Amino acid sequence: MARLSELAHARRTSPRLVELLAQCRPLEDGEDVRGSAVRRMRRRVERAARVPGSLVAETKAHFARTYAAWAEARPKDDFATMRPLLERTLELSKRLADAYGFEDHPLDALIEESDEGMRVATLTPLFSELAAALAPLVEELAAREAVELPKHRVPVERQLAFARELANELGYDTQRGRVDLTHHPFMIRLSPDDVRVTTRVREDDVTEVLYSTVHEVGHALYELGIDRGLEGTALFEGASSGVHESQSRFLENVVGRSRAFARFLAPKLAALAPELDDLDPEVLFRSVNRVERSFIRTDADEVTYNLHVLVRFALERALFDGTVAVRDLPDAWDEQMQARVGVRPPRLAQGVLQDVHWFGGPIGGAFQGYALGNLLAAQLGEVLTMERPLLAEEIASGQFDGVRAFLGERVHRHGARYTPRELVVHATGTPLSVAPLVRYLRAKHGLADAPHGRAAGADA
Ligand code: ZN
Repeated sequence: MARLSELAHARRTSPRLVELLAQCRPLEDGEDVRGSAVRRMRRRVERAARVPGSLVAETKAHFARTYAAWAEARPKDDFATMRPLLERTLELSKRLADAYGFEDHPLDALIEESDEGMRVATLTPLFSELAAALAPLVEELAAREAVELPKHRVPVERQLAFARELANELGYDTQRGRVDLTHHPFMIRLSPDDVRVTTRVREDDVTEVLYSTVHEVGHALYELGIDRGLEGTALFEGASSGVHESQSRFLENVVGRSRAFARFLAPKLAALAPELDDLDPEVLFRSVNRVERSFIRTDADEVTYNLHVLVRFALERALFDGTVAVRDLPDAWDEQMQARVGVRPPRLAQGVLQDVHWFGGPIGGAFQGYALGNLLAAQLGEVLTMERPLLAEEIASGQFDGVRAFLGERVHRHGARYTPRELVVHATGTPLSVAPLVRYLRAKHGLADAPHGRAAGADA
């Protein structure tokens, strides 16, 4: 891995490439797509060139070693083995940040790699506002009585067939992709006509395969929807981590956890298992929207999910600022969880060791995109709901063309033509903010409208 990444880095920053980009410089003054393509390419090459090849190889080797150790340490709740590795990760992350350069906070340098234009100074107030808005919602909704699906059991193969059929109905072209099984679902683009997704199955819980698939299909539709005219340029990719995640979360939550989608889904689940026969869509809707103070980010509901992200963002800042040392990280994690989510994990595997990110890459830059994606998904949902008054009826009857056309036009086809900030305004008319997500969650859970509230999501 170290050698390959060093070789790739050498190509990415070759003097010949830098020279050719310099010749293209005049194009950057233009407003056309060529200007955007050259700007993005030069930005990428210049940033990469700031990092010495030796540091690229050193970090890659360390991350590979750390990942292997983590895979064994996690099930054993073994932080002692991970501690020296993580201390080195922090040191290497700081060296990477120094190499990229930053004006204000070193984390900015790593955030810039995945969410261009975002800074600690802008994310901190945005996330504080988000935390303050979510806390009373969690308080109220976690106290509600839990609704659960009837116990059921469906063989893996049947669930996988269901996942493929569902992906197709959502508009995923299986001539240009595949749905397969993995432990940790992901989407990968191997070429413009080969964009694959993987999913995960639990025999006793069909919602696992359901939401894993819908989420990854959301990512895949983005990649498959980029204008082919951008192929071969630096613009033929998603705009940022946050924007990419907005597309998966939009499909998973704004569409997939709506009342309308529950109506579409209920007969399908009934056909899947006799125990789910005659499933009341309202029961389905409530069971997949149950709000719970839980330990694991990836299993968290829509309301608490962002709080899990904020735990990580706060700890990344603390590690960089030196207010928390790696040796104190497990305790700091538990304190953050207690303060923000309201629970204390009983095991390290359900606490500080749960996510791969810090154990397979740098500390910093990997988590903020999840929260940004959730905010943007709700903001897009609000616009779509206003533009398509019959959206809920369309979804309930399994017609997703309108949703796809909207996302395709506002987001997908542009690839990385616009910066994330520009794209948000282009797609929704306003900069990213907390209010649409809060309105959406309140409307979904039947809470009284906040002042100036507009209902959002396909829940009409
Ligand atoms: Zn995702």
